Amino acid sequence: MARPAQALIDLEAIRHNYREARRLAPQTRAFAIVKANAYGHGAVRVAQALAAEADGFGVACIEEALELRESGISNRIVLLEGIFTPDEMELAGNAGLDLVLHTPEQLEWLLQARLARPLDVMLKVDTGMHRLGFTPSDVPAVFTRLRACAQVDNITLMTHFARADEAGVDVTLQQLTRFHTAIRGLTAPVSLANSAGILAWPQSHGDWIRPGLMLYGASPMDDGSAQARLKPAMTLRSALIAVRELHAGEHVGYGGRFRCETTTRVGVVAMGYADGYPRHAGNGTPVLLNGQRTHLIGRVSMDMLTIDLGRQEARVGDPVELWGSQVLATEVAQHATTIPYTLFTGITRRVPLVYR
Ligand SMILES: *Cc1c(COP(=O)(O)O)cnc(C)c1O
Repeated sequence: MARPAQALIDLEAIRHNYREARRLAPQTRAFAIVKANAYGHGAVRVAQALAAEADGFGVACIEEALELRESGISNRIVLLEGIFTPDEMELAGNAGLDLVLHTPEQLEWLLQARLARPLDVMLKVDTGMHRLGFTPSDVPAVFTRLRACAQVDNITLMTHFARADEAGVDVTLQQLTRFHTAIRGLTAPVSLANSAGILAWPQSHGDWIRPGLMLYGASPMDDGSAQARLKPAMTLRSALIAVRELHAGEHVGYGGRFRCETTTRVGVVAMGYADGYPRHAGNGTPVLLNGQRTHLIGRVSMDMLTIDLGRQEARVGDPVELWGSQVLATEVAQHATTIPYTLFTGITRRVPLVYR
């Protein structure tokens, strides 16, 4: 039999979460964000599951877009960082991709290209994230040049939020104001909202939403709000491969980080940091054993981790869930001082993705 570590992917949950995004922002269309192999869930399978409903998809680079085109996805696909070098322009043109434009360099590459047919573009405005995008005062001139360009079909005006996951913080409102000031007088659809914008900032919904993390059933909100409307799509699971009984005073694993205070039954699970389970998950990180909560003890190693069996009559082969709908990836992330985004995207190729 094979090593029991698997990530079970529920495509129906992803469809549910997509519909939830649309239900929250019913006047909008949506780019379902499937970059980074659909946050570890398998980009081709996720895109195929959403192709009939999603207005478009969002990816980080041409390679990710072409993988979808080659698997038969004909929906709009936007390159969220645009192209990286001018020679990608032709590839993007041939594949009919939408381009984000965020630098003067990208603008020149587009204006100088000779494309078989015009492309749709998203003109990105830096409203305070200060990562990508044109300075607000430059936006009208860039917009005018794009409008006059035969290579350009539809223009969407976009921005990205830095702190939309913090419900009480007015930075998002300032970004909204800057955006609307920057685009005053320009007639074009707008796109602002990532998952946090969709969930917590209805005034940001605009014309095109860009749900990412929420599609996979995790709330990006720092207070965990909105989790109840989402269905976790990934269950990371494995099984016990050894059961031990240790005496008081004995230590478990590398560094002896956990010391047994009394006689302790310990289970060894086939799941380690080389599978993508976070090495920084501390003693006490929740896991599900035979459907009941228990927790990690000792350091996570490359291929294994150790859990407290408590009073359970657990045996070799018993099922363990590292995260899913009962132990949320968000909870595990908190115990590892990280975010669910890194857990999902960190699943390695040693872990088979199994679809249901
Ligand atoms: C990744 C990304 C998103 C999705 O963000 P989530 O927080 O996962 O919803 C939206 N917009 C852009 C530009 C992105 O790069």
